[in-house]
Amino acid sequence: MRKKIVAGNWKMNMNKAEANALFNDINGFEIPEGINVVVAPPSLYLTQFAVTNSKLKLASQNVSHEMNGAFTGEISAEMLSSIDLTYSIVGHSERRAYNGENDKLISKKIDSLLSYNLTPIYCCGELKSDRESENHENVVETQIKEALFHLSNDQISCIIIAYEPVWAIGTGLTASAKDAQQMHAHIRIVIAKKYGSDIAENISILYGGSCKPENAKELFSQSDIDGGLIGGAALNADSFKEIIYSF
Ligand code: PEP
Repeated sequence: MRKKIVAGNWKMNMNKAEANALFNDINGFEIPEGINVVVAPPSLYLTQFAVTNSKLKLASQNVSHEMNGAFTGEISAEMLSSIDLTYSIVGHSERRAYNGENDKLISKKIDSLLSYNLTPIYCCGELKSDRESENHENVVETQIKEALFHLSNDQISCIIIAYEPVWAIGTGLTASAKDAQQMHAHIRIVIAKKYGSDIAENISILYGGSCKPENAKELFSQSDIDGGLIGGAALNADSFKEIIYSF
């Protein structure tokens, strides 16, 4: 069955005291039945947060595509697994833009995560120019195929997809609920064509891109939107909680 998920990506924000305070607030939330909450703090803080809320899990914001060895500054899937992590975000548009990541590399990250039973949250999404030229569905379809279509049926069933139109991330611009739903439905069709509709129906597809308390309800009410990957609004306990309560 599809999971309903609200995931907060803290990016490179907050010092230790601020991070602890926000984590403690979220850990204390009464999370509604059936909702899964994920927090992706800077990796530095992953081992210092003691999760006591059964509906809350931690994620890393990235993982190396290499298994181990001389890769200064990198964190491996094995390391993440050894601290009992559940999720890892991969393919975020900021890593694509600032670190030159492409879907070939991201597919290797996904493989390393899956080999340690970690759940990838795979981010995809088009640029503004792709949408303006009405090429957005093709762009996202290609991303999905390049990053995910080497996976087996069992493996793809473990993936969470986050559709994040790049033009909506951190800009205050949100895809309309209709446009977001259209893309989510398209992603599901693309997956169904390769893996069958049972598998496609059971994959959680999150929306990301300036999702906030004011628009979360409408976005989450769409039939193919299973939750959100939240940036800015996840840095404040009150707004993150409101989003969690938007289902
Ligand atoms: C993100 O970084 O994944 C994101 C969706 O950011 P924001 O909510 O700030 O647009």
